[in-house]
Amino acid sequence: MLFDTHCHVNDEAFAADREAMLQRAFDRGVQYLLCPGTDLRTSREAVALSRQYRQVYAAVGIHPQEAAQVQPGDLAALRHLAETEAKVVAIGEVGLDYHWPEPARELQQQVFIEQVKLAVELDLPIDIHDREAHGDTLDILRQYGKGLRGVFHCYSGSLEMAEELIKMGFYIGFTGSMVYSGSRKLKRIVKALPADRILVETDCPYLTPPQHRGERNEPAYVHYMADEVARLRQWDAAEAGRITTENGKRIFNIL
Ligand SMILES: [Zn+2]
Repeated sequence: MLFDTHCHVNDEAFAADREAMLQRAFDRGVQYLLCPGTDLRTSREAVALSRQYRQVYAAVGIHPQEAAQVQPGDLAALRHLAETEAKVVAIGEVGLDYHWPEPARELQQQVFIEQVKLAVELDLPIDIHDREAHGDTLDILRQYGKGLRGVFHCYSGSLEMAEELIKMGFYIGFTGSMVYSGSRKLKRIVKALPADRILVETDCPYLTPPQHRGERNEPAYVHYMADEVARLRQWDAAEAGRITTENGKRIFNIL
């Protein structure tokens, strides 16, 4: 049993073989997939896939890299999707990305804050993208997200920050980056966290694990992350799959 808690299975990288790609994941024991949106169009695509496949759940949101493209009415449309679609289980992916100079940080922050408020209002967990923006992401959550729970996907912070996030009610998602032998910091974090806050994800089509380096990533590969968690925690593989799946179902309130 596996839960790929962050996979862009709506991406155009899968246009030619989406059905077969999903079938490979199901055959590999992936029983749950969470597909996040990155803008209104991809949020709608995520919802459409959640209607089509029992295993697929959706998050709706505007990614920080899309902050400059937001149109009036987009947030209201996201809200409508979240309120009316049963399989929208989170607001995401949202957050801050300071790796590139654009969009301007102030604009990213404004779009993030709006969506933090939306998650609080709708009482939904939030799926967070935080790249080189740890301080501001935490500040915004503390200021606008009182009581908010959620996930830091593709975690890249310190152990100290992860421990702080766990106190705040967050779960920590690990991608293929964690599997690489050089990722000592992330492996140390996997070992130190409470078992009930660890999630695995592919973030496909990006962040391919080392076993398929250079290829397109897909949800059938999420077991590599669970296997590495198992190795680090000295669990067996099935146990790692079961624990991370239960964690995902708990945070996203999937029965
Ligand atoms: Zn993503």
